[in-house]
Amino acid sequence: MSLAQSISGLQQTVGPKNVLTEKEDLIPYSFDGTAALREMPGCVVFAESAEQVAAILKLAAANKIPVVTRGSGTGLSGGSLPVPGCIVLCLAKMGKILELDRANLTILVEAGVTTLQVAEAANAAGLFYPPDPGSMKISTIAGNVAENSGGLRGLKYGITRNYVMGLEIVLPDGQLLWTGNKCVKDVAGYSLKDIFIGSEGTLGVMTKVLLRLIPKPAAKKTMVATFGRMDEAAQTVSDIIAAQIIPCTLEFLDRTTIHCVEDYAKVGLPLDCEALLLMETDGHPAAVADEAAKMEDLARKNGALQIRVAKDDAEATNLATARRSAFSALARVAPTTILEDATVPRSELAKMIRFVSAVAHKYKLRIGTFGHMGDGNLHPTFLTDERNSEEMHRVEVAFKEIFDEAIRLGGTITGEHGIGIAKKSFLPKFAGDAQMRVMRELRRVLDPAGILNPGKMFD
Ligand SMILES: Cc1cc2nc3c(=O)[nH]c(=O)nc-3n(C[C@H](O)[C@H](O)[C@H](O)COP(=O)(O)OP(=O)(O)OC[C@H]3O[C@@H](n4cnc5c(N)ncnc54)[C@H](O)[C@@H]3O)c2cc1C
Repeated sequence: MSLAQSISGLQQTVGPKNVLTEKEDLIPYSFDGTAALREMPGCVVFAESAEQVAAILKLAAANKIPVVTRGSGTGLSGGSLPVPGCIVLCLAKMGKILELDRANLTILVEAGVTTLQVAEAANAAGLFYPPDPGSMKISTIAGNVAENSGGLRGLKYGITRNYVMGLEIVLPDGQLLWTGNKCVKDVAGYSLKDIFIGSEGTLGVMTKVLLRLIPKPAAKKTMVATFGRMDEAAQTVSDIIAAQIIPCTLEFLDRTTIHCVEDYAKVGLPLDCEALLLMETDGHPAAVADEAAKMEDLARKNGALQIRVAKDDAEATNLATARRSAFSALARVAPTTILEDATVPRSELAKMIRFVSAVAHKYKLRIGTFGHMGDGNLHPTFLTDERNSEEMHRVEVAFKEIFDEAIRLGGTITGEHGIGIAKKSFLPKFAGDAQMRVMRELRRVLDPAGILNPGKMFD
């Protein structure tokens, strides 16, 4: 049965209002957050329960119709980009918070709940859900799990993987599976949930997520330091870590990004600097005061031009806005913004930042760089124009050099955005033959019909 012949079956499963087939309705689902990638789906189907997801997958597997699962479509590697003639299976309507368990410090939510809703529900119960991708106001929790998303608090609190305790998954043949539970310890069999975290919609469709919550830190201090040279900012980061301080946030912006952010968000940032560090420490009030004073000292010792310590929550939020709005601010200044996430061990960060600047110079490209300095996770962002094919070619060559250098320095081709379609040509070199073989075989076992997100991550 073709997709066209399957539409009535899909409508019976989820109701006609939950199946889109008209071209103008499909266009918003023909791209995600990744620049310059577009493909029209065959149809879009909104599921409202795991049982509906199972029925859709059974129909798709029986008819070899490709399925691309989608949350909010904010992905930055083309993971939810449709493949021709596919069903886009959108879980954004599965938005219920099912249980907040104060005794076990867990929260159980449906796949389409946004990251912000999880954070707010935890906060309302006096608890804390730390992973905070820049897209958290709209990204879905299952999208976060599928990409194993990071955020600004990764250095101290870890990433999405560190908070996933259980998953409800519909396998590509329609079978429902629960993996994980509320136990802090569980070593029964393979840790299957870990295989699905970061699987980018290729191994199964997550319908429920059980997350770990932690106590809310009692105090927080936020400060911003500016530097005349990027090396001084990088040295400050190294010195902070060497002093055995693990701040909850240690982020940086380069000169291009600072100017774009100030133009966009009017935070009052000083413009006569080459680098800006956003530093936050949280925890017990006494420890916070002590760590903040030490970080301020280290920044001064490394030649900080200016240090601004937030006096209250409003000012702290304002300073954090400088970093949180970096991508949106850069996106305003060029028709096409390509955001990358090459990542290196922290010790190699200054070298990598210098390399990115040299590549920009060599290929006459405009790059704004910002990112998670404490994690070694850089976001070199190309400000370009996809209509200029000659410039896009230079961008591609520049990227290749940046990823090669990241690998050479012991880093990775993606710290948080995933492989998707954008980086699949780099994966074999990074992962090597043995890992590629295991990944391919795993995928073949779970999805023998090859219907889930075909062509993504690897062929
Ligand atoms: C402005 C901006 C800032 C960002 N900041 C960050 C950041 O700080 N850190 C970071 O890590 N990322 C960041 N991102 C990238 C993106 O937001 C994350 O990857 C996010 O987790 C994607 O969630 P989503 O719901 O939009 O997923 P989508 O983009 O819809 O999908 C992403 C992938 O997950 C799969 N998927 C979605 N739902 C399911 C499901 N239920 N079951 C199985 N697979 C599924 C899709 O098939 C796809 O492969 C940012 C993006 C933007 C636009």
